Amino acid sequence: MPEASIAPPPTSTRPSVPVPAQRSSGPEESPAFEIRDFSLWYGARQALDNITIKIPARRVTAIIGPSGCGKSTFLRALNRMHEVTPGTRIKGSLKLFGDDLYGSGLDPAIVRRRVGMVFQKSNPFPTMSIEENVLVGLRLNGIRDRAFLNQRLEESLRLSALWEEVKDHLRRPGVSLSGGQQQRLCIARALAVQPEVLLMDEPCSALDPLATSKIEELIQLLREKFTVVIVTHNMQQAARSSDKTAFFYLGRLIEFDDTGKLFTNPANPQTEAYVLGRFG
Ligand code: ADP
Repeated sequence: MPEASIAPPPTSTRPSVPVPAQRSSGPEESPAFEIRDFSLWYGARQALDNITIKIPARRVTAIIGPSGCGKSTFLRALNRMHEVTPGTRIKGSLKLFGDDLYGSGLDPAIVRRRVGMVFQKSNPFPTMSIEENVLVGLRLNGIRDRAFLNQRLEESLRLSALWEEVKDHLRRPGVSLSGGQQQRLCIARALAVQPEVLLMDEPCSALDPLATSKIEELIQLLREKFTVVIVTHNMQQAARSSDKTAFFYLGRLIEFDDTGKLFTNPANPQTEAYVLGRFG
């Protein structure tokens, strides 16, 4: 990996991002992810370099950093989604609640059931209704019990703050919804299989400010039940929405701390330069 080289920042100016009250993680809690010396290559190209981090359970962790620094790659490694790209290789250890997610013989489909994902662009299945979109994961797992499916449908749509808007037209196509509603539908689809973790890769980047603030409110509710890891290039969003923030640069984890601390009093000059908008 190339060395990170940026000018050292002056220390006086502080970032103007709003920093809300975050839940700090107590020392007694066991982390959702425990990641040690984790590296990832696309062919010969190294994208992640020796990442060691503990991601707390039932908190929101934001991943920030300039384009190309490995944010999405890191997120996709958390549920082995990068393996859909041929020629990838990893080294190191990545555990979810103590289970080695890269253990031999572990089916990636099981990993992805435990670690759900929502993408930048909402992607409801175009031929499916709202209801079918939410239930597709359960149906693929062979579940046919109508009462159970109905219950999970309502639960998932309530959790994703969409139930009241769609309950009277569940048979309409998923793609008939607005952009923000479609993204919440994708969140409902991810939640329907009851994952332990929800990964979100720039979930608001295609949305208008109103739809964005709905998703951000939803993220605050989701952390009551789930561990959320969100990649965002929007520092205000990271500051508003997360308890912890990890700053990545050139494939390395530069700093990881409580969000308030990382944005107002970062320990590393590269972090400070980035949060002050000096590069990226
Ligand atoms: P970010 O999300 O921070 O923009 P990425 O994780 O997408 O960064 O990319 C990290 C690095 O890995 C970049 O140098 C990028 O070019 C490279 N990369 C990402 N995806 C692939 C791929 N499918 N094949 C080869 N290189 C890739």
